Amino acid sequence: METKVQRSKTLVEEICAIPGGEGILDCIQCGTCSASCPNASRMDHTPRMLIAMARAGMREEVLSSNAMWFCASCYLCTVRCPRDIKPTELMHALECLAVRQSLSNERTRTPIMYRSFSDFVYSIGSVPEVGFMTWFYLLSNPLRALKMAPLALSLLKHGRMSIKARRLKPEAERQLRAILDKAEVLGGMS
Ligand code: SF4
Ligand code: SF4
Repeated sequence: METKVQRSKTLVEEICAIPGGEGILDCIQCGTCSASCPNASRMDHTPRMLIAMARAGMREEVLSSNAMWFCASCYLCTVRCPRDIKPTELMHALECLAVRQSLSNERTRTPIMYRSFSDFVYSIGSVPEVGFMTWFYLLSNPLRALKMAPLALSLLKHGRMSIKARRLKPEAERQLRAILDKAEVLGGMS
């Protein structure tokens, strides 16, 4: 009788399973992405290094890096990569894995920002500015919410921010829900 041996996936296999992550296998380590990246100096590991570390199986170091969270999605690396790897998508795939495995970098609040954003989109289909920022600060740093209150009041007073939440029509809400469900199946954060 044939016995199937179960083994857990390697980090590279997990990255390849997320749309946009497949290119990691084709990287030739030329460094063009790192040289192009406007935020490389803020990252603890450059995009090229992150790819090399992921291929070396350095799961914890890669998924707790701040690099993907500092990615500004400017796509410079993507248009310049000689192997058509799309490092920007790779960064997003790493964010997704980091959140799934609770290895997010503690020095960045970007995952909480994403969480606040998706909480609103999932619950009401839109992102009201006041509610979104209030939720973000409550999840990340409630004291900072107090400091930002004067700015929020000024923006409200001058009509630069609305307190009202825009609701989608039922059909639009149904379509959005279908898109979100599909995104979740493909490897979303929720
Ligand atoms: S530019 Fe492309 S091939 Fe070169 S190191 Fe970056 S991802 Fe790899
Ligand atoms: S998309 Fe991200 S990783 Fe690529 S160059 Fe821009 S900031 Fe850097």
